[in-house]
Amino acid sequence: MTTIAKPFDSGSAYDTVVIGGGVMGCSTALHLARAGMKVALVERGSLCREASGVNAGTLTLHMTRAALIPYAMRAWQMWMDAEKWLGMSVLATQAPGLTLAFTKDECELLTLRAQARREKGAPIEIISSERARQIEPGLHPSLLMAGYCEIDGYASAYLTGRAMTHALRSADVKIFENRQVQSIDSGDSGHVVHFAETKEPLRARRIVLAGGVWIENMLAMLGVHIPIKVLINQLIITERIRPVMRSVLSVANGLLSLKQFANGTVLIGGGWQGDGNRDQGGIEARPQNLVGNMRLAAYAIPALAEARVARIWLGLEAETADAMPIIGDVPGVSNAYVVGSAHSGYTSGPFMGRIMAQHILDQTPDLPIFNPARLLGMQMPVA
Ligand SMILES: Cc1cc2nc3c(=O)[nH]c(=O)nc-3n(C[C@H](O)[C@H](O)[C@H](O)COP(=O)(O)OP(=O)(O)OC[C@H]3O[C@@H](n4cnc5c(N)ncnc54)[C@H](O)[C@@H]3O)c2cc1C
Repeated sequence: MTTIAKPFDSGSAYDTVVIGGGVMGCSTALHLARAGMKVALVERGSLCREASGVNAGTLTLHMTRAALIPYAMRAWQMWMDAEKWLGMSVLATQAPGLTLAFTKDECELLTLRAQARREKGAPIEIISSERARQIEPGLHPSLLMAGYCEIDGYASAYLTGRAMTHALRSADVKIFENRQVQSIDSGDSGHVVHFAETKEPLRARRIVLAGGVWIENMLAMLGVHIPIKVLINQLIITERIRPVMRSVLSVANGLLSLKQFANGTVLIGGGWQGDGNRDQGGIEARPQNLVGNMRLAAYAIPALAEARVARIWLGLEAETADAMPIIGDVPGVSNAYVVGSAHSGYTSGPFMGRIMAQHILDQTPDLPIFNPARLLGMQMPVA
């Protein structure tokens, strides 16, 4: 951490500068601005074009860590109500959610996971294969049992940036796109945010780091070292086919997420990994993992064997050493905050931004935040 070179000029300053324009940063900025703060949001590219724009859009409790269920349930409702608080839809659609078990081991895993999530309030019930096939007739006959949850569905992630931009502008947030933050000078009276380009720095009383997988790099600008694991998730979309499914599907081992959109395309994911480098850039698909993912999808819904792949893409997802979010004060730096790394972070993103804002505003957050200091000195578990 360095000290401010020039005196902090409160006249031209923002109350808060949020760095990183994904769903977490946008939601934080929006909630702060609506509470009356003068807010700037700085994004290296365009809003919600990294993880928050390229994710599978599944709004699910099945895949959310048990401890985060209460957060995800509130966020799910926020997505369903997007038009009310964003003024624009992200095509959030409620659909039945099924987690499938085809083996004895998967049945045990499913039962345990459903129980843990139920204890945290998720309305997930275990149902027979017959009942699962009433909900989703196209399922493979070897299904043994399923977890069923009414609170499930999906949104169109690529619409997130458009909806957030609309809401942020309406709330008078000053948006700086195509601005890469290079360094931050911090002192007791505030922060100066410097850009890679020869642009005027921004001054602010507070800063919020909302950089997704790049949170680690942003924290390092303040001299704070917390490791963030990078997951390189692959996604597959098929050409349009006849309606073959109506639910959102996953499997008990977590390796599948599957849904068909109204236009007939089917989105296939489940965290199958590609290759890439967060710091140097560049991502590349692993063909064998694409094939594995497609085989699993076509096993769950045999009619998918007739579908042809239209496009594949990859995106970067963040995870902390204890796989829980990082939401709260940056350790040892006054008036600096960090928000991100939530598992199923698209689902819970709007609510995580809200509780980050509530904490900054000295309000009691609707649910507890996740103190970043716990992660100091932690090492990433070896995979
Ligand atoms: C392929 C994929 C599929 C997924 N599927 C799902 C799903 O179906 N359901 C679900 O709930 N979750 C899903 N996730 C997880 C979810 O997308 C993320 O958890 C969530 O979007 C993270 O939001 P964020 O705002 O923290 O990060 P991001 O969206 O990554 O935003 C961080 C922003 O910071 C910006 N930034 C970085 N460095 C700088 C800098 N120096 N200066 C300025 N700006 C900077 C980046 O450009 C980026 O826009 C998926 C993730 C991926 C990658």
